Amino acid sequence: MHLSPHSLRQLDQAYLDSLGEVEVRALSGKLLDDLKEAWDRLNQGPENSSRPPSSRAPWERKGGARESAAEVEADAAAADGDLEPKPAEAKPAEAKPAEAKPAEAKPAKTPPAGKPGKQPGAPGIGRTQVFQAHEERPHYPAVCAGCGRPLERAGAVAYTGFQAVDLHWSDPARPGLTLWVVDHRYYEVPCPCGHRTRATAGQGVVDPLLAGVELCEWRLVGPGLAALIVALALRFRLSRARIQEFLGEWLGLALSVGTIHQTIHEASAAVAPAEEELVQAVLDSALLHADETSWPEHGHLLWLWVFRSLTVTLYYVAGRGKELVTNVLDGFTGWLMSDGWVSYRDYPRRLRCWAHLLRKARGLAQSCNRQARGFGQLVLTTLEALMAAVYAAREGPPPVDLPTQHAPLLAALRAACERGQGSVHPKTHALAVELLNDWEAIFQVLSHPELPLTNNEAERALRHWVILRKLSLGTRTPVGSRVVALLASVIDTCRQRGHSPWRFLERAIADRRAGQPLAALPQ
Ligand SMILES: [Zn+2]
Repeated sequence: MHLSPHSLRQLDQAYLDSLGEVEVRALSGKLLDDLKEAWDRLNQGPENSSRPPSSRAPWERKGGARESAAEVEADAAAADGDLEPKPAEAKPAEAKPAEAKPAEAKPAKTPPAGKPGKQPGAPGIGRTQVFQAHEERPHYPAVCAGCGRPLERAGAVAYTGFQAVDLHWSDPARPGLTLWVVDHRYYEVPCPCGHRTRATAGQGVVDPLLAGVELCEWRLVGPGLAALIVALALRFRLSRARIQEFLGEWLGLALSVGTIHQTIHEASAAVAPAEEELVQAVLDSALLHADETSWPEHGHLLWLWVFRSLTVTLYYVAGRGKELVTNVLDGFTGWLMSDGWVSYRDYPRRLRCWAHLLRKARGLAQSCNRQARGFGQLVLTTLEALMAAVYAAREGPPPVDLPTQHAPLLAALRAACERGQGSVHPKTHALAVELLNDWEAIFQVLSHPELPLTNNEAERALRHWVILRKLSLGTRTPVGSRVVALLASVIDTCRQRGHSPWRFLERAIADRRAGQPLAALPQ
């Protein structure tokens, strides 16, 4: 939107009559843009193209379970509900920082009924703490919103402002964390044409899957401090309450749990556009490791999925159905290393992790059941012999390719599996069936000994988040799950690429709050 409600209120026929033709044309252009944008917002729904394709989660697109007409309608109704016209100047109250010198009363806001958490206007801990600022940062409008002429600063009056606390990155010569307090002042500047233009805090566009999250410059928590909070929550796995304790006791900063929570959500909204780049990097991988672990979301059993290659790690929280794998890997032509879960089975260039098979074979080899013990031993010795052959082939190409060289060994194992399939011993039957079902994927590595034998890459990536899950008991809402998956993807990908995720996040938050596009991930 070009014109703020403050500017719009000043426009009337008399003002238009006072402008020259060039100015009227320029202003008409802005009004036309704003009118079109307003109409588009009125007509917005998940089924029309005015919303980006990401308004549907990857595990829902194309033939997902939510395609029924009733659900589409319900979605549309929910989306309409989100589009209640909001006064553009009203700022979310949750983390509204202390207003430094409000020169004018803000319009009273009515809280949406039933919204959990602190209601607008309620006193917050963060708002009562006012610091002595290190810096005052004025914000002036550059051009007149009415006639479009560049504005001088003469006659500028501060009409509102707020205090932000940010983190200064330490100078390597002098280690330590420094909090940096900035008083932001927003100015109103008169133009010779009579229009008074106000500088306003920037606002970013939020991914529709993060409904309710806002990106805005009007924040007590500056971008660097926000990155620290994300690090404490996701890398150091502290609860919101522990982060509050840490900031209070070590940095003397009293933030409410709500502000901390909102900061983490806002950070994920800032990096949400990176998803496209991450998915593309996954698709471009020559070798991809995939795995999944359970992830509770408010009593629903969901799964945290990971897709990891040499240069990218991508997480999703979704059901365990095929949709996610099918949608994320649409167009992927590399090798896929996974466990035996059925969702991966349709993929042609698949590898199986041998670690699981070896573990199962070892279990059977120690069984009290004689038949099971024999089968387990055979699987174990066959796999171990083939592993040794794979390792040797990595040192130098074998004279005969491994599948030919070890054809008798493979034939004996296959025959044993076919016998084991009919076994009454449940674990013997299960391992025999698993080997037969996935035969090609399991022994693919013999033709390509340079490929890995285990899925350790993906399992190691999940381990960190499994501990977070145990501490946090998962997430409570779909938005909360998406926040974790997005931030985890960006943090782990930056770390993999040898870059600080926190510097990237700091910049992402600053840019996106100002309404700028997200910078590309470090390469
Ligand atoms: Zn003007």
